[in-house]
Amino acid sequence: MSFIDWKDIFDDIFEAYPDKWSLNQMHRNNVSQLRKLQTKRTMERQAYARFHCPKCSNSWTSAKAQVIFYYPSANQRLGQITSRFYGQQCKKCSRNGNYFVDPEYDTDEIKFILEKLYERIGWNCYDKKRPPKTTNTSDKEIDMKGPHEKSLCEACQLGCCDRALTITKR
Ligand SMILES: [Zn+2]
Ligand SMILES: [Zn+2]
Repeated sequence: MSFIDWKDIFDDIFEAYPDKWSLNQMHRNNVSQLRKLQTKRTMERQAYARFHCPKCSNSWTSAKAQVIFYYPSANQRLGQITSRFYGQQCKKCSRNGNYFVDPEYDTDEIKFILEKLYERIGWNCYDKKRPPKTTNTSDKEIDMKGPHEKSLCEACQLGCCDRALTITKR
């Protein structure tokens, strides 16, 4: 699954809003763009994804594959959402640090995450009524099985791994 798939699914879902919305991707090293996004609202999610190291063909899975979306705050122009993926380092070949592999989510997982984002935009940008917390059972915390290797996780290194909600389709 590449970012094109994210954009396709995003376009399908967000078509229902009166404004034209588009999803962009920010690279992890783009410090100036990150600075510009500081006035935006954010939604962070973790979900199950696969990782394929392009350098050594090692692959692994993680339920803590994290993505953050930056969307307009009150009074900001509607239409742009920026996503940023948190990577994980390959255990086999990343001894010298800084190379992060981006997560590859299944189509179902992408759809589920983007539906959450769609719902969130409805609440914050279109005054749609937010359901009371008690009845909102779709965002469920899941129990993590197996160790999470913090030293290989970009979100852990940036101190934002624990603050994201982990979601599951069930
Ligand atoms: Zn590798
Ligand atoms: Zn982590």
